[in-house]
Amino acid sequence: MAARPKTKTKAKAKKTTRTGLRGGTSVRAGGRDTSAKTAANGPGLLARLEQGPVICAEGYVFELERRGYLQAGAFVPEVLFDHPEVVEQLHMDLVHAGSDVTEALTYYVHREKLRVIGREKDLVPMNRAALAIAKKVARRTGTLFAGDLCNTNIYDPADKSSIREVERIFAEQVGWAVEAGVDYFVAETIAWLGEALLALEAIRKHAKVPAVITFAIHREPLTREGLTPAEACRRLEAAGADVVGINCHRGPSTMLPLIKEIRAAVNCHVAALPVPYRTTAEQPSFMSLTDPYRGDGRAFPVGLDPFVCTRQEIFDFGREAYGAGIRYLGVCCGAGPHHIRALAESLGRHPPASRFSADMSRHAFFGTDRKIRKIQTDYQVKL
Ligand SMILES: [Zn+2]
Repeated sequence: MAARPKTKTKAKAKKTTRTGLRGGTSVRAGGRDTSAKTAANGPGLLARLEQGPVICAEGYVFELERRGYLQAGAFVPEVLFDHPEVVEQLHMDLVHAGSDVTEALTYYVHREKLRVIGREKDLVPMNRAALAIAKKVARRTGTLFAGDLCNTNIYDPADKSSIREVERIFAEQVGWAVEAGVDYFVAETIAWLGEALLALEAIRKHAKVPAVITFAIHREPLTREGLTPAEACRRLEAAGADVVGINCHRGPSTMLPLIKEIRAAVNCHVAALPVPYRTTAEQPSFMSLTDPYRGDGRAFPVGLDPFVCTRQEIFDFGREAYGAGIRYLGVCCGAGPHHIRALAESLGRHPPASRFSADMSRHAFFGTDRKIRKIQTDYQVKL
């Protein structure tokens, strides 16, 4: 499991590319697609990362729950059948806001999750629906088309039958995504190194595209086996992952210190996709946040609104992460298009949605434009 599987691209791996990142970090691109135009609309993921940052919007299930098309709890995207046009529009909104990637909404469309809600028979068509919608948007917009694997919730290192089932889940989801022609894979929100290695193994065995593997780190700053994220990422890189890092669960302030440790521990590109919530040293994950206005009850998942990061906080996160040499950036559960736009702008970009970024100079009371009447601006102090 630990060795990089032999693939047809092995010869290319000798053509190692080194790129200086800010902070003096050197990056070894994994030997897949660094120069090849593997994406239908331009350079592939690794080539784009060599040129600069790549933004990947995530957290679709949280946004669809807020919009009223998905139930919190199981978080299975049944909306793929009920309202595919809503999923398509969400993808479009996030690209409009600056995402470079359209990720198939196959998060929690694996057989274990569908078993929990009694919809196993929909496994194949639901995966294919998610892939078809994302591919349509990706090819229309020139964004990368990513396949998605995620936490299975059944992985148990002491239970061989659970491991076989996890392997089956990953293998079949990789297979459907390969048939759909994904440009690369994301395996995300995984808390066990062992499970992450199984996801990577499935991608390496059944696909020939890059693999981005991101851990979800809960309250303890360790994987479920007890490894530091830096050590776990180092082992993932050694096993052949192209990009490693952390997504979900932690907000910017409690994710960044761990990300910097990962950056120092690996040679490959690093990913950071926090949730947009104000997590703290005492409550470092969004599942651990408690709300003092609600009797210190757990805020997750539908009471997190008071903790949402501002656009400026996400902008600051983008600046700091990129300055630390992190090139694969995004925002996970809780992110809205405004967060993705703020992230894009932190990297000096001007996505289409930036046409409507705030301009208070024309505000009725706070404006500085000469067309704003003095009777209004004088009243500022009383607002
Ligand atoms: Zn998430």
